[in-house]
Amino acid sequence: MALSDAVTTLRGVGRSKAALLEKLGIRTLEDLITYFPRTYEDRTKLCTISELIPGEPRCFTAMVVTQPRTSYIRRGLNSTRCSIADSSAKIRVTWFNQPWMSKNLQAGETYCFYGTLTGDEKGKQILNPVVERLDGPPVVTRCVIPIYPLTKGLSSKALQNLIFQAMEQEELPDYLPRDLMKDFMPLRPAYTEVHRPTSPETLKLARERLVFEEFFLYALGISMMRARRDRESHYPCPLPVPQSFYGRLPFSLTAAQQRSLDEISTDLSSGRPMNRLLQGDVGSGKTMVALGAMLQAVENGCQAALMAPTELLAAQHYQTISAFLEPLGIQCALITGSLTGAKRRRLMDYVAVGAVKIVIGTHALFTDTTDFYNLGLVVIDEQHRFGVRQRAALAAKGNAPHMLVLSATPIPRTLALILYGDLDVSVIDELPPGRQSIETFLVSSGYRQRLNGFIRKQVDAGHQVYIVCPAVEENEDTNLTAAETMFETMQDTFPDLRVGLVHGKLRSEAKDYAMARFLNHETDILVATTVIEVGVDVKNATLMIVEDADRFGLSQLHQLRGRVGRNSEQSYCVLVSDNRNPETRKRLQALCRTNDGFAISQQDLDLRGPGDFFGQRQSGLPMFKNASLAEDLTVLKQAQAAADSFLSTHPDPEDPDYGPLFGRVRELFSRSDDTFN
Ligand code: ADP
Ligand code: MG
Repeated sequence: MALSDAVTTLRGVGRSKAALLEKLGIRTLEDLITYFPRTYEDRTKLCTISELIPGEPRCFTAMVVTQPRTSYIRRGLNSTRCSIADSSAKIRVTWFNQPWMSKNLQAGETYCFYGTLTGDEKGKQILNPVVERLDGPPVVTRCVIPIYPLTKGLSSKALQNLIFQAMEQEELPDYLPRDLMKDFMPLRPAYTEVHRPTSPETLKLARERLVFEEFFLYALGISMMRARRDRESHYPCPLPVPQSFYGRLPFSLTAAQQRSLDEISTDLSSGRPMNRLLQGDVGSGKTMVALGAMLQAVENGCQAALMAPTELLAAQHYQTISAFLEPLGIQCALITGSLTGAKRRRLMDYVAVGAVKIVIGTHALFTDTTDFYNLGLVVIDEQHRFGVRQRAALAAKGNAPHMLVLSATPIPRTLALILYGDLDVSVIDELPPGRQSIETFLVSSGYRQRLNGFIRKQVDAGHQVYIVCPAVEENEDTNLTAAETMFETMQDTFPDLRVGLVHGKLRSEAKDYAMARFLNHETDILVATTVIEVGVDVKNATLMIVEDADRFGLSQLHQLRGRVGRNSEQSYCVLVSDNRNPETRKRLQALCRTNDGFAISQQDLDLRGPGDFFGQRQSGLPMFKNASLAEDLTVLKQAQAAADSFLSTHPDPEDPDYGPLFGRVRELFSRSDDTFN
């Protein structure tokens, strides 16, 4: 058996089990072995009952004082109760629907418990703790428990069994240079330890080994990508940005826009492939700079493509850009996943013969076989949704076109160096003139009435309102405000206003329709999910309400907020949250205080770490299964230094001694299994 074999080669994995694993993205034995716990519960430290803190799970030993008794509450619900005590205190314990507890536990005996203190002063108790005998092996208490992301029908135990079955197979491939690794825990013990930790200390060492590997391979890959810049470009663009671009501009560029465009223009004409990141806060005007670059490419006989993360955004770019280009006689086309049939083929033909100069689309542009005549420049908008792998795939495509990456998230420098180590950076650090800063408030849902009054006021003044919800539909588990429910509520609250709804589960025509109506001011209120997070530009919108704001990352909220304040009117952002957690409130209040995207992203990074920094998708860091940029910064630096020194002594990626190593790097950087979004 090989690591690339399907999970179905394992004992006990039939079609249905395989389908469950597939849901977790696990197809092969390798996927299984590298399906790392999301987190761990350290149950190795024991405390006393009096030391228990409400809401925090703890491990402690205690004697069962009264024999547990089960009482039936109603059909399908029973409770088993007893008191337990140690030398510090006595406390009540309740288990729901675990009647066997009354048989399993004996009054007078001492057990180890793991549970959470709940209730107020009057009725403190422990609900549903796990219990273990002290004379048995520590399986659920007194140990470190790995917590895996699971799916219904697959238990942690079952998953772990499969992982260890997969690990019985042959050698685990060790790609790293041996002399580098002599101070680390060997590979196999490291894998065993992360899946079944023996102690927090050994777990730490094991993680270090695996994290180092991830960072090392990544750093090597980035360096190899950077090296590509020294090649000669197939698309030299010596002619500058054409004057017709400046002639058509409805405004003059800000100094920062102009400086960035100049840097890009110099890259394009340099004779080497451009690999540049254009960073600028929401609303700083990246689109026009990108368009200037595209026109320079076209001026030099090349085609240019602009890639957006959503169809919505692609359509909006198309609208802006095609209107701009029309009098210039430059053909541009919109190609997205929803364009099909004869129409798609015809457009593709135009692209293939070079009649269409500028192509705007979603990632569908690159996932299927779009044939360009001579694609010289690729612009990727809203970079944080595209990972380094996609960048690598793109660079490898065709003749390595010039690449310009637009990022709306002002990424702190430390992080930018790691994530975009292969790119040069231009920064637009100034907003177009006349922008008002957005006033941001944090309120609880008790303010609903007043908030409705505020919505009314904005709409009466001729403005439009966004309401963003964290979920699409009502769901018992999550209790989050759903866009669909909010849409109905708004229709009921404001029967005379025009309310729209847009979310990711709608068909793309329905999405486009809702968006277009809002854009044309045919709706007053748009209820949405984060599909509107990136890029959407409706100048007349002056109020953004975010429901359950605590569910979003700070940078994400800042992005959302950037949807308003796009004209000279005073705009507002209202964060609605009933979360009382002081940390959470601190985060949200930070957003109320400042409009500076850089400050916010740094704060987000400090408070929550880079995982959350990228929102749920994390596609900025797709290749790290173990490593966390927040926790493992030291290992990262170590790995980066190691990669640099390794490359300086072994610069030849064809060196057969390191074939597997370089092969692994290439594989990691070209894998398409977790493509865009
Ligand atoms: P982002 O950087 O967030 O992508 P956009 O490119 O969407 O920003 O620009 C935001 C808005 O600002 C657009 O409506 C655009 O037309 C306008 N804009 C861009 N540059 C300028 C400028 N120099 N002066 C005035 N308005 C500008
Ligand atoms: Mg944009």
